[in-house]
Parts: sequence; C-alpha cells; structure tokens
Amino acid sequence: MIVVLRSDATHDEALAVEHALRAAGSEPQRLAGERIAYLANGVSQDLVRALPAVAEWFESPATHPMASRPGPRTVVTVCEQHFGDGHVQIVAGPCAVESPEQVDAVASACAALGLRVLRGGAFKPRTSPYSFRGLGLDAMRWLREAANRHGLAVVTEVMEPSAVDAACELADMLQVGSRNMQNFPLLAAVGRTRTPVLLKRGMSATLEEWLLAAEYVLEGGNEQVVLCERGVRSFDPAARNLLDLAAVPLLRARTHLPVIVDPSHGVGVRDAVIPMACAAVAAGADGVMVEVHPDPGSARSDGFQALTVPMLGELVARVRAIERAMTK
Ligand code: PEP
Ligand code: MN
Repeated sequence: MIVVLRSDATHDEALAVEHALRAAGSEPQRLAGERIAYLANGVSQDLVRALPAVAEWFESPATHPMASRPGPRTVVTVCEQHFGDGHVQIVAGPCAVESPEQVDAVASACAALGLRVLRGGAFKPRTSPYSFRGLGLDAMRWLREAANRHGLAVVTEVMEPSAVDAACELADMLQVGSRNMQNFPLLAAVGRTRTPVLLKRGMSATLEEWLLAAEYVLEGGNEQVVLCERGVRSFDPAARNLLDLAAVPLLRARTHLPVIVDPSHGVGVRDAVIPMACAAVAAGADGVMVEVHPDPGSARSDGFQALTVPMLGELVARVRAIERAMTK
C-alpha cells in the first residue's frame, strides 16, 4: 500500500505514522517526492484511515510499486545537474576512456558546448573476451580528473558489486549496462548506495522487466534512478539495435522516473545518431546520452558509432532547438 500524508503534515506526525506502520508489522519505506509518502506492505485500510496525518492511500496492484507509484515525478540530481526537471540533459563522452589526453579532449569539448555530465567506460562489458575491456581504475581516475578540470559530473559503468564502492568514490553516477540489467546482486549493491544510478535497458528486456530491475534499486533505498533506452535486438542487421522510442511515452505513463535515450548504442551508426537524438527529445525524453571521440577512426571500442567533436556541436544545437520549440 502507498500511504500519502497531508501536505501540511509535520515531522513529528510523519514519525508517528512510521511508528504506527511498524507496530502493524510493516517496514515503511519513504518514497521520493514533494509529499511525504510511504510504501507499507501488509497494513490494513482501517489502520491507515485512523491516522490523522494520512491524506490518502492506494492499494498498489503493480508488481513494481516503487517504480510506478503515483505522485510527483522524480528529479534525479547528479552534482548540480538534473534529470527529469523539464530540461533536456545531454550526457556525452567516449565509449571507453583510453588515455588521459583522449578523455581530456572530450571533456574540454563537452564543457565548451555547455554540457555538464561526462560519460566514459573504465570497465567495459564486451561480448567477446578478445575485445578491448577497458583500463579499469586508472581510466576511472583519468575520467574524474578530466571532469574536475572542466567542471563536469561523471557517469561510468560498474559491472560487479565488489567494484561499487570504488566507483562511488570516483564517479557521481553509476551506470548499470544493458548486459547487467538483470544482474540482481549488482542492482541490490547500487541500491544500497546513495549515488544516482543510470539503468540501461537490457537488450531484449520488456518494459516490465526493466521497471522490475529499477524496483531492485529503489527497494534498496536508492531513489535516484534514471532509465536509459538503448535499443533492443531486432531481426535487421542494418542497425546495431532497434531504438525503441515508443518506450519514452510508454514509460512516462508507467513510471515517475526520468527516461533518457542513448542513440549511439541504439542505432550504432554514426550518421543516424543526431537524427535519433532529435527524435528522442521530440518523443519527450528527459535527456540523451551519446558517444564522442576526438578521432573515431582510432577508437578502441565503438568508433563506428562515435560522433566527432564537430558533430557533437551539431547535436547540441539541434537538440536545444527542438527543446526550445517544445517548451514554447
Ligand atoms: C555503454 O553505454 O558504455 C554500453 C556498454 O552500453 P550498453 O550497456 O547499452 O550496451
Ligand atoms: Mn560503447
């Protein structure tokens, strides 16, 4: 059950409600949002009706009550950058961090374009064990240093629970990649942190499975989750994946969590990235995430889909123009 308090409920009244829910055998979880609200399982309607601070309650039929709770939309804040506050957040950076110079060049280009969140892989989940698998903690440090020099926040992927603490030290947001969307120990581990999480869609995951993955993180107490659509498997090898932009409006009706789109992995074709980023914003996405490399021809991973720095400039201009047109 979701229990929502009156908008003028005091701190003491909230504590009294928590106490009453606990006394009834539930462990109430505070939900994010403007009003004080709790997820409390196993309590009766008679009990909550009798609590004066309670304004309303909902029996939640959802299998993911936290990811699909009613009420205000969640704004995820990474350093001072917001996802879901109504403006389009553009995250950019290399697929993999390859050297201090490479990541600094990208960070500098991002900052010059007014971007504030830098991505970059240090631990790369690769389909083949013979592909470049990232430079690990050294790469994460170079990413952090480049971001600090240019005033950027950092998002980077974690692949295993044992790496989460180190990543929290160096990054501002933890990415759970497509291949790990159902790595349940990893979801639980990032859910125990208070570092925002970027949860990518599994490559053949339904929206329901994806929301259940988000539920693992929320259930751990971490309410700062951004969903990232990155394409799903299709029958057609013309594109690396089939970018499911319908997921954006469909998720908006099913969850309060912000949704961004990664057209780089979603299509896997450099020249399609800008148009699909524009389409994502037109579909209502809270942001986009794209790969960029100072010299895509020499990239150690995903060079074929990396934007050049001038292309990133074009993407930012076009996305901002659509954003302005939509908010008029
Ligand atoms: C990435 O964003 O670095 C990545 C590996 O993407 P995905 O998990 O969507 O394949
Ligand atoms: Mn990549």
